[in-house]
Amino acid sequence: MKKAITLLFLSSLAAPALADECALVIEGNDAMQFNLKEMSVPATCKEVTITLNHTGKLPVANMGHNWVLASTADYQAVATAGMSAGADHDYLPKDDARILAHTKLVGGGESTSVTFKTEGLAGKDLTFFCSFPGHFAMMKGAFKVG
Ligand code: ZN
Repeated sequence: MKKAITLLFLSSLAAPALADECALVIEGNDAMQFNLKEMSVPATCKEVTITLNHTGKLPVANMGHNWVLASTADYQAVATAGMSAGADHDYLPKDDARILAHTKLVGGGESTSVTFKTEGLAGKDLTFFCSFPGHFAMMKGAFKVG
């Protein structure tokens, strides 16, 4: 009996706030847009989970979206390299250290997510974008840790 009460107390105090601020949701649509231009998590998050919901209807081959994180200095070069990598590689250069985190490519009605560590990212100038050819010009935003 005593144990059950302790567990209840702990979960009601700790769980909700932590779960929310370290887990972000973003949407991509058939108009080649993300619904967010900025995303941020507090530096207290050791790990971040990004969930990407494609709210459109178009298939992945026509309007695929992913969520890719790189430094703002690198993201355009990564997007260009991704174009050459082709659809078989989700339009991402293979084993490229400039890619800090990424989801897979999804089509309309699909969702995907990625969890990554924030170590070394606090205070950095970061950009998230979609690496599907031609999308990064519109589908991008600032990402901040801390
Ligand atoms: Zn896209």
